Amino acid sequence: MDIDIIELSKNSAKFVLTGTNPAFANGIRRAMIADVPTLAIEYVNLNDNTSVLYDEQLGLRLALVPLTMDSDYIPQADCNCAGNGCPHCEVSLRLDVEGPKMVYSGDFISADPKVLPADEKIPLVELKDGQRVMLEAIAHVGYGRDHVRWQAGVACGYKHIPSVTAEACPKCANTTMEVPQEAVLMANAVENITEKDELKCTQCGHVRHIFELNNPALKVTHNSHSFVFSVESDGSYSSKELVLKSADIIKGRALEFSNILKDL
Ligand SMILES: [Zn+2]
Repeated sequence: MDIDIIELSKNSAKFVLTGTNPAFANGIRRAMIADVPTLAIEYVNLNDNTSVLYDEQLGLRLALVPLTMDSDYIPQADCNCAGNGCPHCEVSLRLDVEGPKMVYSGDFISADPKVLPADEKIPLVELKDGQRVMLEAIAHVGYGRDHVRWQAGVACGYKHIPSVTAEACPKCANTTMEVPQEAVLMANAVENITEKDELKCTQCGHVRHIFELNNPALKVTHNSHSFVFSVESDGSYSSKELVLKSADIIKGRALEFSNILKDL
């Protein structure tokens, strides 16, 4: 199995995974979305809320603020405090702001400097003169499979590597214009159409459908053992950490399964 990095930034990545099968690729995708643990606000103790938002609306917005993850925290279900809350399984963030002001995620004051909003500029509510929000938010570790607030991978997907081949065909002069410009270099003469950057083709199924209906000048096929991954993190982890965590989770489950089989 090989990985070729195409793009890599703090919160997003694009890479080609080769030498594996759809089951493993989908396992990685699902783990990034559902199984990588993150911290998110689960409970809110409201002292004052005279904003235009109901308490429940405000609570929903707070829950969806991504928080940077600290691996020292564990899920409450695994903690020795039996769900009562302790420094190992929960972190407190306070918010005390008065209008007139736009309240941003960066206004949170966290009890743990390692657990902060992943983005300081997420707008929460606009306060007019005399309005106030004062609360304590409690964040717990959880999983995306339980609630979207804990979903670390927000846009994780893959596609097979497309293979575009051009052939001369006088009947396809019109349909070739529907091929994504990023994937194929267009030309007036069909004979001069060439592949440009096949990895940027986002509509291979659409293109294949078009050309199967006509006498094809272009053929679009897929390599079923190579995958182009696009990964975006919510900021709780870097994109690289998110992929590595998901691989570790699959590895851990495989080992656990193996150990169970050995004990049978
Ligand atoms: Zn605890």
